[in-house]
Amino acid sequence: MANPIGIVLYRGPSRLDGSPIVAIATLESSNRKTGDMVQTWILRDDMLPLEAVREGADDAVCGDCPHRRSTGGACYVNVGQAPQSVYRTYARGRYVDMSRDLQGAALVVRGRMVRLGAYGDPLAVPAEVWRALTAHAKGHTGYTHQWRREGADEYRTLVMASCDSPSEHASASLRGWRTFVVLGPDDAPPERTFECLSDAKGTSCEDCGACDGAKAGRVLQAASVWIRVHGALASRFDSAAIASRARRVDLLRVI
Ligand code: SF4
Repeated sequence: MANPIGIVLYRGPSRLDGSPIVAIATLESSNRKTGDMVQTWILRDDMLPLEAVREGADDAVCGDCPHRRSTGGACYVNVGQAPQSVYRTYARGRYVDMSRDLQGAALVVRGRMVRLGAYGDPLAVPAEVWRALTAHAKGHTGYTHQWRREGADEYRTLVMASCDSPSEHASASLRGWRTFVVLGPDDAPPERTFECLSDAKGTSCEDCGACDGAKAGRVLQAASVWIRVHGALASRFDSAAIASRARRVDLLRVI
């Protein structure tokens, strides 16, 4: 096979709501924070990503993440750019469909760092897809806001629990997750956490690779990671409001 620009990893129902989705890996990246990692995109299969956001149909790929812009959140992903472009390229048939050859897909990304969910939540896609894809990878990173969901536990060794407050971090840690916790301006870092090396030292995720989930069977897990909210969207981030919303949603057994 000539060098593909990207590969289709999965086409099928979303684990989050059953809607048709597609997972795609693109093989070149100019993302400065992550470095040159293989990027994976989790998109609705039946409409453009922006259309999904406009119609509130993005819960198929984002669940009820509190940061969805369709619900007034502050998600850092500009859906009109990379996700839209990846979907258009997919619709033109430019990616090689390897959804029935995940061992082959794993060979394509062998020795590379893989980012699970450059857009979309990895829990929308069956865990075995990610396990197969990363079987020969150098490492991977990934995050989920869906860690409270039933059936989420099998992803604990693949991705970090995304948390928006120290109390969410405590709750996820008790459930056996390593976390990536966003702290508000006045929040103290929780115990056994360290500051994201991208913020602290300018290290890329490709070189760091710390956000790879909890290790199966290990009693004492590696430390979790924190980052302080910043950037243009900081003013839209209210960790107390998000935490209280998350607690309400937790009562309904979703997120
Ligand atoms: S801790 Fe490392 S892997 Fe995680 S987000 Fe920061 S730089 Fe990336």
